[in-house]
Amino acid sequence: MIKKLPIKWKLTIWSSVLLSVLFISYNLLQYIVIEKWSVSYEQQNMQHQLTEIEAFLKEKSIRDPSELQRYDHYFATINEKNQMIRILDEKGKPVFTVSHSVPSSWVKPKKATSLQYEIVHHYEDRLLILRSPMTAFSGTIEIVRNMETFDDFRDTIFLVMVATVAGAVILSFLGGSIIAKQLLVNVQAMTNTVKRIKKNGLNERVPVNDTNDELAQLGKLFNDLMDDLEQSFLQQKQFVEDASHELRTPLTIIKGHLTMLNRWGKHDPNVLNKSLQSSLKEVERLNQLVHELLELSRAESEAPNMTEWEMVDVRLVMDSVIRNFENVYADYTFRQIRSESAYIRIVARHLEQIFVILLDNAVKYSQESRKEIHVSIYQEDDVAKIEVKDFGIGIPQADLPYVFRRFYRVDKARSRKQGGNGLGLSIAKRLVEKYGGTISIESKEGQGTTVVMAFPVVRL
Ligand code: ADP
Repeated sequence: MIKKLPIKWKLTIWSSVLLSVLFISYNLLQYIVIEKWSVSYEQQNMQHQLTEIEAFLKEKSIRDPSELQRYDHYFATINEKNQMIRILDEKGKPVFTVSHSVPSSWVKPKKATSLQYEIVHHYEDRLLILRSPMTAFSGTIEIVRNMETFDDFRDTIFLVMVATVAGAVILSFLGGSIIAKQLLVNVQAMTNTVKRIKKNGLNERVPVNDTNDELAQLGKLFNDLMDDLEQSFLQQKQFVEDASHELRTPLTIIKGHLTMLNRWGKHDPNVLNKSLQSSLKEVERLNQLVHELLELSRAESEAPNMTEWEMVDVRLVMDSVIRNFENVYADYTFRQIRSESAYIRIVARHLEQIFVILLDNAVKYSQESRKEIHVSIYQEDDVAKIEVKDFGIGIPQADLPYVFRRFYRVDKARSRKQGGNGLGLSIAKRLVEKYGGTISIESKEGQGTTVVMAFPVVRL
């Protein structure tokens, strides 16, 4: 039953129950202690009186109960309020009684052979009785004390206790529900936001107050998470749009050629040949684009698989990539300005991929100028630095911040002509960052471009 209640009620009920148990047990303990203590206090008091009476009888050398009557004045003074002193003869018959507000008829006389206490009730009154055999003569003395005053006091205390328990329960109930309400206002706000997100989309946020308590922190965290989610959702959407757009261009061109061939070109070997060549080129481009998209997706999503990481000497990888480029681009000069050994932890194939992208760009964008590419590899403190510098067309200052974005090309037409899809640098950046490295680009339009990378080195 209680499991199904809202947290607010659970908190309230638990706090009230716990507090009442605490208060009730504390009060009960106090009540028992008071009760025990006062009975024993009264007993001591009565015993003290008994000793005094015995001493008095001894002093007056009283040997027979019948002599007692003479000293009733003494007994009247020693007797306390709400108390009766009664003396029984050896047969147990009352022979002498002094009393203040305790009628003799309330207590049946009883002989005693040793000191004993008894508690009897007479209607609402509680009577504490001390019985003891007399030493002066054979007989019994009974001191009967009405606990009325103490009982009244005890009842008052009891009432006060009940009132405090009731007060405590009410207070804890109110306090509990106020605290629970305060706590849960934020949770409720969050629940409402999640409901709205479900209904309206990712742009809803939790209202966060400036208390900076745990719930406010949770709210902030939730909003941050939603920001990231929204951001990544928008990016994905943008990416799909961009990718579709990029895919459509070659497809449109191929379709144009096929339509043309279908209409007129079938019997014209010239047109046929030209269109087939163009279409093949576009298919090749499509192939390349799909390949790059796949690479990018891998670079973005794959969690680094540490087991594949190996110690790689950057210089050796660069040497082999440069050798390949030299074979393909015989008209370019690749100069290694600095070539030091530097070991980093990486998947060798990825490092190769990064170098290919950078050298490919360097070649692509310096076709009409000085065909020289400078490469430097060196170690600075704990960092392996790699620089690839060309003297080509460069990148305008305004475009520099965007070149790492997916599909970003400075000059769409020129880049496309050179086979660029605008994905190279974004793939390179994702890969570099995956291995804890950084990549930056400096460029002056018309003078050339330098890409600088830094990777943490492995100490040997
Ligand atoms: P792409 O495949 O089109 O070269 P990248 O992501 O590799 O795509 O580069 C993005 C854009 O940055 C390129 O389109 C080009 O305009 C510019 N760029 C990259 N590298 C160079 C460079 N070395 N020199 C001049 N421009 C460059």
